[in-house]
Amino acid sequence: MERQHIAVIGAGTAGLAAAIFLARQGHHITLIEQAPALTPVGAGILLQPSGLAVLDLLGLRGQALQYGARVDALMGDTVSGRFIMHTRYADLRQAGDPHGVGIHRASLCHILDRALAPLPHKRMMNTRVDALTEQGRGVQLTLTCDGATDRLEADAVLVANGSSSQLRPPALVRYDRQYPWGALWTMQPRPDTLTDAALRQRYDGCHTMAGILPTGVTPAQPDVPLVSVFWSVPVADMPAWRNGDVDLSAWRLRAETAWPDLAPLLAPLCSSRQLIPATYRDVIMRRWAQDRIGVIGDAAHAMSPQLGQGTNMALVDALALAQALSDARDWPEAWTTYHRLRSGPIRFYQRMSRALTPVFQSHSRSLAAARDMAFPLMYSIPWLRHQMALTVAGLKTGLL
Ligand SMILES: Cc1cc2nc3c(=O)[nH]c(=O)nc-3n(C[C@H](O)[C@H](O)[C@H](O)COP(=O)(O)OP(=O)(O)OC[C@H]3O[C@@H](n4cnc5c(N)ncnc54)[C@H](O)[C@@H]3O)c2cc1C
Repeated sequence: MERQHIAVIGAGTAGLAAAIFLARQGHHITLIEQAPALTPVGAGILLQPSGLAVLDLLGLRGQALQYGARVDALMGDTVSGRFIMHTRYADLRQAGDPHGVGIHRASLCHILDRALAPLPHKRMMNTRVDALTEQGRGVQLTLTCDGATDRLEADAVLVANGSSSQLRPPALVRYDRQYPWGALWTMQPRPDTLTDAALRQRYDGCHTMAGILPTGVTPAQPDVPLVSVFWSVPVADMPAWRNGDVDLSAWRLRAETAWPDLAPLLAPLCSSRQLIPATYRDVIMRRWAQDRIGVIGDAAHAMSPQLGQGTNMALVDALALAQALSDARDWPEAWTTYHRLRSGPIRFYQRMSRALTPVFQSHSRSLAAARDMAFPLMYSIPWLRHQMALTVAGLKTGLL
């Protein structure tokens, strides 16, 4: 396709990665971000082999490893010591030493941002896109910057503004709801006692789940290796945590009894407000594009992080989109290719994360009993172990 002016809305993983791919193809990119600066907050995320493959194509895999922490396995057990999850990337049976990388969201954005910076593009920070209007052979964007309204015209728009996006074409949205459970998280220096190259989780029924992810270092503190700590809570309980109404000592005792490894990580906390709440949405779209508007990343397929795929899917979306655009003569053809490349993986991972989320985050006793019986059995069958590894790695349906 000849050079297009493409407005990318949102400078998260999806927006930054898409902007790099498309700017490298010679398109004129305007990246619009509501935050005044790219200082992304956020928890640690687990880059899977799928996401790392995309970073490899961007020439950024080495930097991800430099900032992140290598992860070889996902391990989860119950308070009574029963192994529930034990997925090793070695079970992928692939050449090239497959593994994951735990990384701070700020570090990933920093790496992507540094790759985009030297490419010709325009950036509009501190600018919120309020509305999109299709007009003939383009799209008009209504923007707010410093309280003033402005307009911008582009040949096409990529909506990459995250799970709560209000810019998805409404006719394309089939389902959009918040999950009833979310997570509290905190980032702490990695104690010397925690040396496993693994994402570890601890469960008690489905009502209690905690996780520890090695997260590597941040650009701001390159000498301090971090871990991210997650604690599952119902969304309805989050206001009490935010308001400081939770008895932190009682909770800490409960958490440390369930999992003594949490003790050094929770010790520095003085208030429940220091635990940052994260909620997640389940968004299903009929298609991910219409006319001159495409939707990528969480805006297109927000899901629970149970399978740790969101960032990785955002990266693969960007790759698929770049491939679709490079082969197409016009936008309808590009969207057709994009759908063909992405619909299988997106449908598969949304179904899986929707099915698995209550198995780890709910009040169900029967699901807990079934999980504690079925998961160890599944891991005892080599074929299923391989399928689990492919699923976790983001490769169950292939990369593209
Ligand atoms: C607790 C938790 C743990 C997670 N763990 C993992 C994990 O281990 N692995 C994994 O792969 N994923 C994980 N995820 C999911 C992952 O964080 C998301 O899938 C990923 O960040 C999506 O990237 P994105 O670029 O689509 O959206 P975002 O990162 O949300 O970026 C959207 C950007 O758009 C901007 N924006 C929003 N509205 C506007 C507007 N109107 N105008 C201009 N700009 C706008 C925002 O400021 C933001 O910068 C986790 C999520 C949570 C909540």
